[in-house]
Amino acid sequence: MIRRVTGTQDFLDLTLLNFILEQSKRFLKLHHFNEIMVPILEPTELFKRSLGVETDVVKKEMYLISGHEDISLRPEATASTARAFVENGIQTTPWKVFTWGPMFRHERPQKGRYRQFHQLSIEVIGTNAIAQDVEIIALLDRLFSQILAFDSYALLINFLGCHEDREAFKVELRKFLEQHINEICDTCKVRMNTNIMRVFDCKNEHDKQLYTQAPQIIKHLCKICSAEWQELQELLELLSVSFHVQPTLVRGLDYYQKTVFEFVSGNLGAQNAFCGGGRYHKLVEIVGAKEDQPCVGAAIGIERLLLMLELIKDKLPLPQPPAIQAVIPVEKAQHAIALLVGQELIKHGICAQVMIENDSLKSMMRQANRIGAQHAIIIGAEEQAKKEVRIKNMMTGEEQSVKQAELVQFLSK
Ligand code: AMP
Repeated sequence: MIRRVTGTQDFLDLTLLNFILEQSKRFLKLHHFNEIMVPILEPTELFKRSLGVETDVVKKEMYLISGHEDISLRPEATASTARAFVENGIQTTPWKVFTWGPMFRHERPQKGRYRQFHQLSIEVIGTNAIAQDVEIIALLDRLFSQILAFDSYALLINFLGCHEDREAFKVELRKFLEQHINEICDTCKVRMNTNIMRVFDCKNEHDKQLYTQAPQIIKHLCKICSAEWQELQELLELLSVSFHVQPTLVRGLDYYQKTVFEFVSGNLGAQNAFCGGGRYHKLVEIVGAKEDQPCVGAAIGIERLLLMLELIKDKLPLPQPPAIQAVIPVEKAQHAIALLVGQELIKHGICAQVMIENDSLKSMMRQANRIGAQHAIIIGAEEQAKKEVRIKNMMTGEEQSVKQAELVQFLSK
């Protein structure tokens, strides 16, 4: 047997997935976000330049297309959206867009972590206003609490300041780490020299404990950033969005600055973040624009939403599948008329399956039962001659004959 690639999944029932997508798209469109599509294949250089060569994603997790080293399967969609903005010469800002689709990262698979996974990615390109960050965070909070009916999650926020704030903070952080150099793990020692703020992503319990005493960037912000950080918190409070400040939240990718946030849930196990985002500057310039654009965005992990929704799906207004009508020709001679009857039903929006496998009537009736048909619509030689069908109600067992011309009307009752 040929098995699926490790870390990928088959989705055989899309009810929950489609519910998430339809509800999210409708909600985003109400906030005047436009849906776009960007390619799954992108130049590897796009991600090296934007995410940063020292990030785990670029260093270890990229899927390079064999024989085409300069092309990769995208690991995320923000860089592609920024590229699309520049390449298509978009002039109207803020450009409010969203896109969804598969992303690829060669990570160690576990519950909630896959090598092919799906994100719904939301971006606003060309916005300096911290209130825009608040709009996105509040929108996500309402999407999760009101539309998807999650009741057990938390919003974590932090503020990474501007470039100058971070450079000054890194010096402070280095001092702290040097004082504890014999205690920290080897990965953190490496990160000290490559991407020092990523030490806060360390999974080692001892290091995590130690970093609760580390200097905090929110205490080292310049005047402008400090005011923005205050504004962010005040606006969230005014909009009744509950949040926790997490000073060690830095997020994995290089392009973030100022606002960063993550939505986490206790129902997800080790991979507890189901949405993350923040403000990013310089990305538009990095991908080739003459002039930079300040941006803010977020990515929702669809597989993790599915894990959460699975627990509460009975409470959701999921669409009911339509009633199925099984059209059963008794013999081969009635195949054509059965196909025509099926077409007529479908034309009127009635879901129909024509049984054309040349089985006995008994086995076709059994099959109709198995697919949960509401009625069996039986056509034998006699019915064909009289331009009728015999309808059996599969619940009650009741049978009656109906003119073919009146079938749609009968089933629509
Ligand atoms: P990121 O692009 O790393 O900021 O991730 C944003 C969201 O995508 C996370 O909060 C997760 O919900 C989801 N995500 C990231 N990586 C994976 C993965 N390997 N498998 C499933 N979901 C993921």
